[in-house]
Amino acid sequence: MKRHSPVPQAEEPGNWIVATHQAWKLYITLAGFGGALICFTLGFFSLAYGRERFYALIASGFFLGVATFFWFTVAIRCPRCESKLVWKMAMGRPHSSWVIDLAALEECPDCGADLRTGDIPGEQG
Ligand SMILES: [Zn+2]
Repeated sequence: MKRHSPVPQAEEPGNWIVATHQAWKLYITLAGFGGALICFTLGFFSLAYGRERFYALIASGFFLGVATFFWFTVAIRCPRCESKLVWKMAMGRPHSSWVIDLAALEECPDCGADLRTGDIPGEQG
């Protein structure tokens, strides 16, 4: 049985975060941001019932969003040198493209480990 797939899936992992078994951290992050979004949404609807609940919900959503982002930046790391890759990319790249650069990473900018396969090159020097 011949299969003609334009996107090779078994041989080549598409994303280094998946390849290094850190995809669950993305789901936690999405859940956190989803929760923050729900807080904001409920907050705006709660304006009809008074401002106290509005501020409480907006504050909860804000802190949840900030905490989730901070956790995300420190949770996703190079499997070899434990470099905080999200933080590194977020600080070192333009705001418009760091997420794309992060997703397209092929090797660790710090130690050169191949992030897509998990292969670790030998020490040099
Ligand atoms: Zn590294």
